[in-house]
Amino acid sequence: MQVLILGAGITGCTLARLMKNKGYNVSIKERQDHIGGLCYTKRSPNGILYEPYGGHTFHTRDSYIRKFVLNFSDFNNYKHKKGIFINGILRHFPLSLKTILEMENSEKIHKEIKERPKLPDLTNFETYAISKFGRTLYRLFIYNYSKKMWGIEPHELTTEYIQNRIDLTDSNTHLFEDDFQGLPVNGYTKFLKNMIDGIPIELNTSDFNNSFYDLILYSGRIDELLKFKFGNLIYRSLRFEYKNNDNWENDNYGSINLPQHAKYIRKVNFKVMYQMKTDKSWIQYQEPIALNHSNLPMYPIYTNQNIELFNKYLIEVCKSDKIIPVGRLGLYKYLEMSQAISLAMKMIPLIENWKKLNPKNRYLEIKKILKN
Ligand SMILES: Cc1cc2nc3c(=O)[nH]c(=O)nc-3n(C[C@H](O)[C@H](O)[C@H](O)COP(=O)(O)OP(=O)(O)OC[C@H]3O[C@@H](n4cnc5c(N)ncnc54)[C@H](O)[C@@H]3O)c2cc1C
Repeated sequence: MQVLILGAGITGCTLARLMKNKGYNVSIKERQDHIGGLCYTKRSPNGILYEPYGGHTFHTRDSYIRKFVLNFSDFNNYKHKKGIFINGILRHFPLSLKTILEMENSEKIHKEIKERPKLPDLTNFETYAISKFGRTLYRLFIYNYSKKMWGIEPHELTTEYIQNRIDLTDSNTHLFEDDFQGLPVNGYTKFLKNMIDGIPIELNTSDFNNSFYDLILYSGRIDELLKFKFGNLIYRSLRFEYKNNDNWENDNYGSINLPQHAKYIRKVNFKVMYQMKTDKSWIQYQEPIALNHSNLPMYPIYTNQNIELFNKYLIEVCKSDKIIPVGRLGLYKYLEMSQAISLAMKMIPLIENWKKLNPKNRYLEIKKILKN
């Protein structure tokens, strides 16, 4: 059986490896001139490893994911620590009850936190955030950040992205609780290159002869696959700027959120994340922007309208006996890297059964997998 994987991001590379290990004839085509998708890693002009599409830290609590990734690279032991500037003061993120005690208005904030409902309000992004943090904290560090990040009012968003992403903690912790965290010691591109060792890959192309392949696992945009026939799914993107002469405020932090900055959303210090011993630095400033022809689709914007549109595309694609949408662009879902690997693994039985299922059951299976 000939299997073509379109896209050599972490999803495409994982599927290529898993399908190859199962004995299929696998090949990959990648549109860009490099593998890695959003996790692509290169070296800065002053020699520091970095991700030009945004700094990435790997984290998981699942031993099967950890075992899988360690086949292809050693990981450093960087545990992601984040800071946040609020009213000019650098605080630890996620905010803890301890930090709140040190803030102006701490009594008011505490009162609001005490009065929070037992269960979060899932009506929309804004109601969810207020029910978790109270109005004062929401205004201080979530409202502006989110409006800048998504380009729309937070109440227009569903809770899909925010749920389980931020919470108040009792004391200052790492951003992720996962016991396995770090970055591949030579970057994600080398890690993924090792993952697809022995699998033929063609770069700079997305052309394929449909009749030659039995299955096509497509990790590009689902709306593009169908030539945008129902309209565009909306994404948010980022523009990046770099500085190599900044004073980094605190070497414990790999990145710092900038909720009150007029332009930037966060800054990332790659020297810290890659644990490089050098007196040089390479700081990435990230500015959220609307998607245009010269940048990449990065974050799906979860409004009810976009989710409905995605479902329409998914129903249509499931009518194909050989093309299966996968990954964050194929399934219009924000995925952390470990989730992208896990999702790819969970999709293998469906991929192997795809031709035997009718379109409705393919659709229902994908929905079921996405829910878990
Ligand atoms: C700014 C930012 C920061 C992030 N930070 C983290 C982090 O710290 N930790 C974490 O775990 N996750 C992070 N993520 C998420 C992470 O990037 C995703 O988990 C990952 O990119 C998912 O991989 P993917 O292969 O599904 O998609 P992608 O990485 O987008 O790969 C898709 C690939 O398909 C190619 N392609 C598209 N269409 C075609 C076509 N028609 N033919 C051929 N090739 C095609 C693209 O060129 C691309 O290479 C971050 C995401 C963003 C946007």
